[in-house]
Amino acid sequence: MTKKFRVFATCDIGEAIEMLRKRGYEVELYPQPEAPAKSLIIEKVKSGIDGLITSLRDPIDAEIFEAGKGTLKVVAQFAVGFDNINRAAANQFKIPFTNTADVLTEATAEFAFFMMGELARKMWSAEHLTREHKWGFWHPYLPFLGDEVTGKNVAVIGTGRIGLAFIKKCVGFDMNVLCYDPAYENHAFVKAVEELNALRHARGMVREKAWIKYLGFEEALSQADFVSVHVPLLREGESKTPTYHLFNEKTLRLMKPTAYLINTSRGPVVDEAALSRALHENWIAGAALDVYEKEPLPKDSPLRDTAIADKVRLMPHFASAAKITRLSTDPGKGMAGRCVQGLIDVLDGNYGGDIPKMPYVVNKEAFK
Ligand code: NAD
Repeated sequence: MTKKFRVFATCDIGEAIEMLRKRGYEVELYPQPEAPAKSLIIEKVKSGIDGLITSLRDPIDAEIFEAGKGTLKVVAQFAVGFDNINRAAANQFKIPFTNTADVLTEATAEFAFFMMGELARKMWSAEHLTREHKWGFWHPYLPFLGDEVTGKNVAVIGTGRIGLAFIKKCVGFDMNVLCYDPAYENHAFVKAVEELNALRHARGMVREKAWIKYLGFEEALSQADFVSVHVPLLREGESKTPTYHLFNEKTLRLMKPTAYLINTSRGPVVDEAALSRALHENWIAGAALDVYEKEPLPKDSPLRDTAIADKVRLMPHFASAAKITRLSTDPGKGMAGRCVQGLIDVLDGNYGGDIPKMPYVVNKEAFK
């Protein structure tokens, strides 16, 4: 008789859970919309579950892996980012964990692009005029004007999956692209964009041919009208080029006073105290944020100060929050589908049980 696997999910990921149940898995869901206490996750892991479905809200640290020693077979993370999972501890206890890369790439990239447009064209402030009956007249420049995105310079910090998808959106708006990535420069992609730019120009679709190039971080920041951040959160010791507080007082001051910062990566990549000063003291023109050092954004965050409300857009970690992206049970389309497929691969021993061959396992190095 095949073993009946037991799974605990720290959040409801929709229909995909039913798929697991139909396979005969016994799945327990944490019933509340808020994240469970860490002590409850430990209790469930200690009870001998085989699989744990997690989200970025759950601190999956050494204590949790230790609790699952010998019993927990897989942690399936419902996100591409896994900075909440202690990779070294997962490796120490030889527990594979999976993520949901790729399926949220376009949704996150387009959200970053829309945030950039909303911020630059002051759509939030403009709608407030209408709603609050402050739209008294049409005027050439009163009460304020925004900045066009079309034809401007955009720095893309981190040219992995989402960074490249973001660039594709920018190309459609004839933006010049300043790429920065210390780990890998994708020159084949740059060449493809150059070909597109040349074609748009040759066919008379644009007056000026747009350009794209890789350059250093400081140069990219100083030449950009917009800076969009697409890096993982890497703390000191986790990478030769950590991203924790990559945007701080020093680097924010490198940006033009007319430039805008867009962050859909992870909150701690930006030093919020420095950003708040940058906005109050006009080192930069504005910022659109989807992620924060502490989530949900605390009531007393300086970013909520009404004095800077017109130049800072605050989204609730929402960039991947689109129906198909989040909930499709198709592992090629949805985070839910990919999350459960990652779990099934490990528990059912797909790929001949060879973990490094399983496409959604992140910490393959522990099993080679
Ligand atoms: P990815 O691994 O494909 O790309 C990340 C890129 O950043 C890599 O090319 C890497 O070399 C580069 N990088 C690493 N350190 C860097 C540094 N110091 N400076 C500049 N670049 C650096 O990952 P991805 O799929 O593009 O996702 C990126 C991140 O976006 C995720 O790790 C996650 O934290 C975040 N994310 C957020 C949301 C959201 O809802 N807001 C949704 C999806 C992803």
